[in-house]
Amino acid sequence: MHSKIVGGSTAARVIACPGSVALVQAAPPQAESKYAAEGTFLHAAITALLEDAERLPMTDEQRDNKIAPALELLDQVDPDRDMEFRTEVRVDFGDFLPGVFGSVDLLGKIGRRAIVLDWKFGDGVVVEAEENKQLMFYAAAARRSAPWAFEGVDEVELVIIQPPMIKRWVTTIARISRFEDQLDAAVQEAKQPNAMLQTGDHCRWCTAKPTCPMMTGAADRAVKVKFDALDKAQIAIYLQQADMLDGWISDLRELAQRALDNGQVIPGYKLVAKRGTRKWLDEDKARAALIEAGLQDPDVTTLVSPAVAEKKLKRLPDGLTVSVSSGNTMAPDSDPRPAVLQLGQLLKKVL
Ligand code: SF4
Repeated sequence: MHSKIVGGSTAARVIACPGSVALVQAAPPQAESKYAAEGTFLHAAITALLEDAERLPMTDEQRDNKIAPALELLDQVDPDRDMEFRTEVRVDFGDFLPGVFGSVDLLGKIGRRAIVLDWKFGDGVVVEAEENKQLMFYAAAARRSAPWAFEGVDEVELVIIQPPMIKRWVTTIARISRFEDQLDAAVQEAKQPNAMLQTGDHCRWCTAKPTCPMMTGAADRAVKVKFDALDKAQIAIYLQQADMLDGWISDLRELAQRALDNGQVIPGYKLVAKRGTRKWLDEDKARAALIEAGLQDPDVTTLVSPAVAEKKLKRLPDGLTVSVSSGNTMAPDSDPRPAVLQLGQLLKKVL
């Protein structure tokens, strides 16, 4: 469960753009991507190992490339294994900032140093620990809600373990206090009716992009631009905006597709079946036909694909293949493919 106001992963966005809180609250919930689902699983798997709980079944790739290297990197933080620690710790700000909370992957203490650690299992951009707002959020919240980790402590180490990388940054309690002031100011600003909106790198993961006036305004301006009248400096500015618009466009498409999937109407658009890929209808019959045509080695188990067979034979015998679509996609009404019938939605209307 995530805070509706601000949590660790949204701290950078809310501090930079307090107005995003209200817009994100009004945005429809997003479906979990397969990358996010794998990240959640790997977090659970490494937590189970550290807690001596029942091991979760993982693939060799997950064990060798993610979990084992992450545990080795943890040894760099705690070489003598004397860290007192807890995993998946819910941390919050109590009455100071009601409704603001998060969950830190590992909270620990070694001597006079508190440790705030986050696992990142994505292969994308390497995340830095220095001045990392997600980790400072957890440190500030843990100071209030998990005092055992801060008793007698005079420094805080923020750690990102993102196999094969580890990033570490030691900071002071005073820096964490200043971060808390910054967070408090952003949360108070977010409550104002016209809270400040500000674009930047933090927009990348913002679910309000399709409806954000800063984004829709930029899109409108981009449509009206006369490109031949632009100087180079202006082109550079528009290139920066183009990166943000890329994210806005893909989020907008996803939002529209979800609405159509749910049976809602987007004027001028419909759902159509994705282009199908051909498969052998009956592999035994196909194998016999391919061997007879001299296209298939009888000793090889993998069948020649319909596309390869057709290239060589010019025309495949009737009834050997079937076209299978991998799902639905959004298309304009002018697309010649017929709109798909959504049985689930029709049943809902009837019942
Ligand atoms: S898209 Fe960017 S500017 Fe708009 S609300 Fe989200 S973070 Fe703020």
